[in-house]
Amino acid sequence: CLKPPLPLPPPHSPLSCAQHALSLRLSSPWSSRHPDSPAFISLRPSRLPPLRISYSQFCSRVDSLSAYLRDVVRLRKGDVAFVLSPNTVNVPVVYFSLLSLGVVVSPANPAGTVSEITRQVGLSRPLIAFTDSGCMHKLPPLRHGTVVLDSLEFESICRSASSSSVHWIDEVEVKQSDLAAILYSSGTTGLIKGVALTHRNLITNLTGLHATVPQSEKPAVLFYTVPYFHVFGFVYFLKSLALCETSVITERFQLGQMLAAVDEYGVTHIAAVPPVVIAMTKCVEGHDLRTLVSVTSGGAPLGQDLISTFNKRFPRVTLSQGYGLTECTGGAFRSVGPEESSRPGSTGMLIWNCEARIVDPETGESLAPCKEGELWVRGPGVMEGYVGDPEATAATITADGWLKTGDLCYIDEEGFLYVVDRLKELIKYKGYQVAPAELEQLLQSHPEIADAAVVPFPDEEAGEIPMAFVARQAGSNLNEAGVIKFIEKQVAPYKKVRKVEFVSGIPRSAAGKILRKELRKTIRNSSTHL
Ligand code: AMP
Repeated sequence: CLKPPLPLPPPHSPLSCAQHALSLRLSSPWSSRHPDSPAFISLRPSRLPPLRISYSQFCSRVDSLSAYLRDVVRLRKGDVAFVLSPNTVNVPVVYFSLLSLGVVVSPANPAGTVSEITRQVGLSRPLIAFTDSGCMHKLPPLRHGTVVLDSLEFESICRSASSSSVHWIDEVEVKQSDLAAILYSSGTTGLIKGVALTHRNLITNLTGLHATVPQSEKPAVLFYTVPYFHVFGFVYFLKSLALCETSVITERFQLGQMLAAVDEYGVTHIAAVPPVVIAMTKCVEGHDLRTLVSVTSGGAPLGQDLISTFNKRFPRVTLSQGYGLTECTGGAFRSVGPEESSRPGSTGMLIWNCEARIVDPETGESLAPCKEGELWVRGPGVMEGYVGDPEATAATITADGWLKTGDLCYIDEEGFLYVVDRLKELIKYKGYQVAPAELEQLLQSHPEIADAAVVPFPDEEAGEIPMAFVARQAGSNLNEAGVIKFIEKQVAPYKKVRKVEFVSGIPRSAAGKILRKELRKTIRNSSTHL
């Protein structure tokens, strides 16, 4: 471990991540912040006025909803609840109520198609779902039905005076080893899997994030461009509550709306993915952004040229990076403060309570500093495993607890991490995960396709786009538009195949595995010839 450990609550003491967030909040110098200070400001489309809820309204809504879920719906500790919603003020209320009751939160991307969501529901087996009226039709029937977040009924549940007052938070004894959330990731290979995160996992990352914030300043006003269903947004939601921050959220990211909100609400920090950073560097003049202190980017790599352009464009704003995976609760390396953030090409230093090694991926042997190899991490932030998939879990976490990240990296003598490439199959489109195996299965089901493989193709705006190599059946005249359309109909928009190359055959190993390295080499060679 490259850092002295940060004390965590004793592992066997009963504690939910919600209780931990509340106790951090009470110990912070801002705990006496006025209860009417804004907790969430939700920007809405079509010139509708923003919705705001204060900390006291947040607590009373959580109180009422928890009492309803416990006494009327009769949800119990260990039950699973599916959440399918864009970022609105209702999502944190739902998450916090469920986590307090020990109910497992399983949030998914609302852009998913019916078949994608059905697969996720099959993995997490929820008893109830929370969604909005636009996504309701995507959910299968569940034992306790579906709660529609933008309905009058939900509003009246959240406003009803609860008889249990604020006791709910202590009534259910949640162990730190209990499951808190099931998020979705395809991991290093194959189809989407359910990542089982415990309260301990979330407590670990929340404690680390909390400790990096200087408590002498005023609480942050944080603009979320990251969705609450992704681990980045999920952990940040707990951090914002623990630090009495004001979260400015939006259902759909629009650059102009965000920049106007920075000026209007005095936004101090932005939680972003690289495409947002790119958009900011291209933004037109006219916004003051005087209050903006930092932008934290994660989920995908930030190129060095982009970092330099950003720094020139916004010399007063610190651009910091975080590196992590859903499988380690979103955190492993992070740059904190202007000095760590100014290391060209690095994604920062190891977070507290986490160990890291660079290993030869073939032999598992540790490599010396500055040598490239696969990054392995270990610590209390590493997931319990993939739900119902011991094989995939065993292939990802070693017997002694190391999580194989599937990323090709090196760590320099001073402990800074540099992500060089990805060894795993994953494609990241604007920070969203796209699993090649899923697109390959669909392509292979086309009657005119003999074989197909999907790999990432570099793209300035999105980071990467899914590119398909397609071997047609003899006599077929299938063209690029036909392939793109065929996939487009069956997947969420961010998973679309956006480039196609026709080949006579897909390179495969003797065991039938796609030789992705060879396909990616073809791409690299052809892009250097451009
Ligand atoms: P996810 O589970 O969706 O967060 O995806 C995790 C993967 O995103 C990692 O294994 C990396 O491949 C990639 N990733 C996340 N953060 C960074 C970063 N700062 N730089 C480069 N790649 C990153």
